Amino acid sequence: MTDSGSRKGAETAAEQPAASLEEQCVAKGMRMTEQRRIIARVIEGASDHPDVEELYRRAVENDPRISISTVYRTVKLFEDAGIIERHDFRDGRARYETVPEEHHDHLIDLKSGNVIEFRNEEIERLQEAIARKLGYRLVDHRLELYGVPLSPKDRD
Ligand SMILES: [Zn+2]
Repeated sequence: MTDSGSRKGAETAAEQPAASLEEQCVAKGMRMTEQRRIIARVIEGASDHPDVEELYRRAVENDPRISISTVYRTVKLFEDAGIIERHDFRDGRARYETVPEEHHDHLIDLKSGNVIEFRNEEIERLQEAIARKLGYRLVDHRLELYGVPLSPKDRD
């Protein structure tokens, strides 16, 4: 959520089911080939922030003719259109997810590479307060936590 326009979109989406990635592509005037549709569905069906190689592995299960360069190009197209988000979780691989309806932040498990989504209202408020104190209205932020699993004796 980066501007008041998309915020407004999120509010109306509460009443109707959100537009699918394919519908958003069509709404943006994108020519949707069958391969692009497959890639859009793979991204939408993922909850693990896959990178391009993983998206490619999943896409070829649906259509073995899809090439990795098609996946690269399509992902770039979607990213430039602002309908998917790219993340860099410091492992040298760009990872993707659909633009979430409600903002969330990420915790990255450095041992397994798992990405855990969370949202904390206290952090959200604090960030807005910091920006305000510095003379800004906060319009976007990214927060990544990097961690290793606690050993059982250290858990609360
Ligand atoms: Zn996420």
